[in-house]
Amino acid sequence: NGSCLFHGMISREYADELLSGAEGSYLIRESQRQPGSHTLALRFGHQTFNYRLFYDGKHFVGEKRFESVHDLVTDALIILYIETKAAEYIAKMTTNPIYEHLGYTSLLKDKMVHRLSRGRTEPRRVTFQRDEKISSPLVRRSALKDTPEKQCFYEKIHNFKVHTFRGPHWCEYCANFMWGLIAQGVRCSDCGLNVHKQCSKLVPSDCQPDLRRIKKVFSCDLTTLVKAHNTTRPMVVDMCIREIELRGMKSEGLYRVSGFSEHIEDVRLSFDRDGEKADISASAYADINIIAGALKLYLRDLPIPVITFDLYSKFIQAAKMPNSDSRLEAIHEGLLQLPPAHYETLRYLMAHLKRVTMFEKDNLMNAENLGIIFGPTLMQPPELNALTTLNDMRQQKVVVQLLIEHEDVLF
Ligand SMILES: [Zn+2]
Ligand SMILES: [Zn+2]
Repeated sequence: NGSCLFHGMISREYADELLSGAEGSYLIRESQRQPGSHTLALRFGHQTFNYRLFYDGKHFVGEKRFESVHDLVTDALIILYIETKAAEYIAKMTTNPIYEHLGYTSLLKDKMVHRLSRGRTEPRRVTFQRDEKISSPLVRRSALKDTPEKQCFYEKIHNFKVHTFRGPHWCEYCANFMWGLIAQGVRCSDCGLNVHKQCSKLVPSDCQPDLRRIKKVFSCDLTTLVKAHNTTRPMVVDMCIREIELRGMKSEGLYRVSGFSEHIEDVRLSFDRDGEKADISASAYADINIIAGALKLYLRDLPIPVITFDLYSKFIQAAKMPNSDSRLEAIHEGLLQLPPAHYETLRYLMAHLKRVTMFEKDNLMNAENLGIIFGPTLMQPPELNALTTLNDMRQQKVVVQLLIEHEDVLF
């Protein structure tokens, strides 16, 4: 272990001379070119490494921050040692991961039984013909309701964040030691998987979020929520729609009339607190507009909208097409690219809104005014810009209107 010396303004060459012969020793010098800035000179492997040293309450040369320069140097020596002496070994370790057969899978095997059998049932491809008469949506009504979908096979990427491990830890991908004093690796904040930073790039998208780590229901990523609850769609969507279909379909201005915002907030809190045990029955909230409002709020507050940021402009462009057949073709193309959990949610919601329009005589809601309401709820431009939002409002409406009207052929 090195001894530290603070030297004033000395040259790089002189620092090199001072440190030569003493492996692991280091000194801090003030830069001659930029007075006031400091350089850490560190001797390792018969050469001197120079790092610009920063301090903002903690010491750092890269992304890791340390309480003392001593800790920083210890960490740097470990990293330098590992990277030079064990470079070949490190390169090799990720080529033969334990992951599939030992690590993560066995740790979470009770939760991971579906992992191997996952796979998305591809939505059927359809072609659009001129003057095609839409088959009666009534035919499909029961199909949507009766399928017991209580399993979820969607892929989800891990949500890795740099993590400092206390005590020795081993990578759950390659089984090797996580070296360094701090920030030795990354941890998935949704499922708790611990791996080396370089291994994180190789881990498959098989994150199975842990319910205890998912703190809220609202504002939680859609795929994360359905994976955590092992459902096909977010249970908020299913539960609200079930409640609305039970007692609200003839309610005038359904989805247009807003419920008391304090009550909607109440529903949000009870979903966040109680999950699928949240009570949204008529005895808890007599006004169906509160449930409809909560559903809209849920969809609007998603960190990634149901129609994802990535596909936003594709849908807007589709809506601008003059020919109605190519418009539907383009929308259908876009739908097939949605992440499966988003696709399933949208499909279910559109089938529901279609049924809402069948009661237009009573509720006065049709595909067009529902399109105005759900357009900005289901799709938002990736960059918030008042002008874009204003310009796209018409297309947003058109997209949702078409999704409702052609629900049976599009999905
Ligand atoms: Zn994960
Ligand atoms: Zn690893």
